[in-house]
Amino acid sequence: MDIATALDNTESKHAEPGTDFVPGPVLLIGPPGVGKGTQAKALMAEFNVPQISTGDLLRDHRARRTELGMAADELMSKGQLVPDHLVNEMVADRLALPDCARGYILDGFPRTLAQASWLDQYLIDTNAAYPVVVISLVVDRDDLLKRITGRRLCPQGHIYNIYSQPPKLEGICDVDGERLQQRKDDTVEVFEARMKVFEAETAPVIPHYESQSRFAQVDGFQDVGQVTDEIRARLKALRESSRPGGH
Ligand SMILES: [Zn+2]
Repeated sequence: MDIATALDNTESKHAEPGTDFVPGPVLLIGPPGVGKGTQAKALMAEFNVPQISTGDLLRDHRARRTELGMAADELMSKGQLVPDHLVNEMVADRLALPDCARGYILDGFPRTLAQASWLDQYLIDTNAAYPVVVISLVVDRDDLLKRITGRRLCPQGHIYNIYSQPPKLEGICDVDGERLQQRKDDTVEVFEARMKVFEAETAPVIPHYESQSRFAQVDGFQDVGQVTDEIRARLKALRESSRPGGH
């Protein structure tokens, strides 16, 4: 969603009756393939809050050729990483927009302990109503590997898994007889590479929130709806214990 759309959407929608819960800033953490994107979408729809993705912010600033975007461009053209302070400024700009007032789902940020500390301080400095809370979607590594590498897709959209939900005939869709395919990213090698990145990036951030009781784990291997229900319950419990002045 671009900035203009974000502004247009503000005030135009109200949460459904009975969902007046204010989620505040939420960071969803989970390994690749755990269903983080699906859960983020469900929470955005339920609470009418935006997703704040540093990838999107960077693309937006570069496309609009803002000062921050051009500074990032220059570094990236030299093959350098965009430093924390530029990313932080882009996040600060975005969080100041009115559609973030009731909360937002953080995606790809904070990625480091330094960013997490910056965000905490930013929320204090701007008198934000709530600190960030973290929901970690947890699954057994081998189960996740089977879920991803066992996935087979029919061109018509039917989905199988050779371990948990195999077709009657190997490689053939039960419904329409089409040949099943495996996505080229659904391999052990891609999975291991992504897990490595996840573990390297996420490991330092979790203890920061855990030590302040702003962290909860949810079993990511339940039904999609059950996971959403549990996230909602955990979120409410965390907010109860992190009310302003309540810590
Ligand atoms: Zn099919």
